Amino acid sequence: MPETAWAIILHGGAKTIAPDQEQAHRDGCLLALAAGQAILEAGGDALDAVEAAVRALEDDPAFNAGYGAVRNAKGEVECDAAIMDGRTLAVGGVAAVQRLRHPISVAAAMLPETPVLLIGHGAECFAREHDAELCEPADLVVERPGDPGCDTVGCVALDIHGNLAAGTSTGGLTGCHQGRVGDSPLPGCGLYADNAVGGVSLSGDGESLIRTTLAARLMHSLEALPPGEAIAAALARLARVGGEAGLIVIDADGRLDWGHNSAHFAVAHARAGHLAQAFVNRAEDAQKEPT
Ligand code: ASP
Repeated sequence: MPETAWAIILHGGAKTIAPDQEQAHRDGCLLALAAGQAILEAGGDALDAVEAAVRALEDDPAFNAGYGAVRNAKGEVECDAAIMDGRTLAVGGVAAVQRLRHPISVAAAMLPETPVLLIGHGAECFAREHDAELCEPADLVVERPGDPGCDTVGCVALDIHGNLAAGTSTGGLTGCHQGRVGDSPLPGCGLYADNAVGGVSLSGDGESLIRTTLAARLMHSLEALPPGEAIAAALARLARVGGEAGLIVIDADGRLDWGHNSAHFAVAHARAGHLAQAFVNRAEDAQKEPT
């Protein structure tokens, strides 16, 4: 089979980034991108690239995922994550987990299993059975006075075998209801991947993304439109209920693009033959056309 040109795009959440934090976001995105890119360049799987990139973002306290999570209204940490395989449409997700050092890796371990989504204690038992790294909830929290902590990380990758994968991971929303689950672990809301169409990962107001099934709408638009136009259509759909969103896309032809209606959306992307680049908003991206 002929090789496909690899591509990878990741984000650090739809939110407002203080000027003195912008470079840390670009740097963190580039570091995570390098982890995924190395796998793709070596001929590895899109799924492994997405997991590696999201793990790196989960390690960086600039981002609200894994280490860097925020507290809910009861002062607890509850993280959500999911990963999807565009080759098989397998999905693994965990929600409201408190003791997983890398929620994305537990989601990845669920891919061959029957349940799509495990929550709380059940997800942590599964993690123990699969020798995943556990930690104390307090070890994940990074206090950021004055920061609403509303963001998520995500990644989409296309490997040289033509396989697409998408992933998300979030440390939740500051002060949210105990047990609240957002869009991040829900296929069709926070992420989706299908080799025949493309892969997407979203961030933003979870309730709005769920009510509009925004990842599903974006995928549907991608069947007929180039990524930039599909993103514009999804943001128009979101306007029906209001709310902020940031969206990253790679289509089945390897075209990548991104958009947001939030003040900032830290993104890094790279493709075979193109240098890795990072930005904190879409206007910064010199390449205005879908690449
Ligand atoms: N979408 C995430 C959630 O609602 C938060 C975010 O992306 O900012 O849990």
